[in-house]
Amino acid sequence: MHTMLVTGGAGFIGGAFVRMVVAEGRCKVVNLDKLTYAGNLASLCDLTGNPQHVFVQGDIADRALLDALLKEHRPQSVVNFAAESHVDRSIDGPRAFLQTNVVGTFELLDAARIYWQSLPIADQHAFRLLHISTDEVFGSLGSAGQFSETSPYAPNSPYAASKAAGDHWVRAYFHTYGLPTLITHCSNNYGPYQFPEKLLPLMILNAVAGKKLPVYGDGQQVRDWLHVEDHCRALRLVLEKGRPGTVYNIGGFGERTNLEVVRMMCRMVDELRPQLPHIPTENLIAFVADRPGHDRRYSINSTKIQNELGWHPLIDFEAGLRQTIEWYLNHSDWVSQIVESRYRLERLGLGGQQV
Ligand code: NAD
Repeated sequence: MHTMLVTGGAGFIGGAFVRMVVAEGRCKVVNLDKLTYAGNLASLCDLTGNPQHVFVQGDIADRALLDALLKEHRPQSVVNFAAESHVDRSIDGPRAFLQTNVVGTFELLDAARIYWQSLPIADQHAFRLLHISTDEVFGSLGSAGQFSETSPYAPNSPYAASKAAGDHWVRAYFHTYGLPTLITHCSNNYGPYQFPEKLLPLMILNAVAGKKLPVYGDGQQVRDWLHVEDHCRALRLVLEKGRPGTVYNIGGFGERTNLEVVRMMCRMVDELRPQLPHIPTENLIAFVADRPGHDRRYSINSTKIQNELGWHPLIDFEAGLRQTIEWYLNHSDWVSQIVESRYRLERLGLGGQQV
């Protein structure tokens, strides 16, 4: 059976990926996650006792641990989701982003290189290291144009800068050592189990609770929304069929302004919870100070992965949004465990804290 080392598999996208891979029944997954504020074993409770899932709490920057895991489990592939992932937190405390997204990525790459070099030649050819990056490394677009795989890097936030640096290390390890790496850049993911600091879950929970819906600036920032399950399907294909050394963009064909998304979410919450005393929930929208350096528009061209690997997103944004709202409405235990102990839905990212 194929063994895969997945990092960050207790987070939002990594968790969806681990659940998908284990459900396929063809792989054993060794899931290495530090369990930062964003990591959550409750998102993996369906896998409890499943011999195809081995969870290890630990840091991707811990070289001794990485070496030991590679030696013990001898994976055929490594998939790196582990990261500090929230732009607002990178404004308040950039050092953690440098540590995990750059130093951690380096340690993982280098441990994988040494392990890979020790494999027989046939196993070296079959090995893959997939690094999950973001469209944010390309900076901000005007009202027209799209990012392609060859767009110049122009990261604007500390988060984007740290992801860009990690990508460069991955690229260099392919070109210098021949380590069979792949990089994907995806757009904004949405779906179940997303930590409530991110736009959609924060807005859903506030709308249901009758709290203000804080829209940054004028709300006209454009993002391209990608359902997490469509994203994970794309990653499976990249692992199986992608050429080493290749970069793939993964977008959702779902470009919308933040304000449009929040308004659509409000209409759906009103339909799904008509008994709420404070509907229409759109009246809760409050425009607040913009995020410092907020990128205006991201748009991603996914033609390459469509043409080369035959991927296209299956989940329409409206259907995916409704399903996501229903998931949050039906999983109050998962939500309250976070809101009561780790994050009280407060505003982050105004840069007032020390690194
Ligand atoms: P997340 O914040 O939900 O999860 C990150 C996970 O990584 C958590 O489980 C956390 O505990 C773990 N982690 C953090 N530091 C670690 C470390 N040093 N060692 C081991 N584990 C560590 O993030 P996500 O939204 O699932 O994002 C996953 C990846 O996808 C990230 O690399 C992110 O940059 C990228 N990405 C996300 C989006 C999005 O819309 N969410 C978009 C583009 C790219």
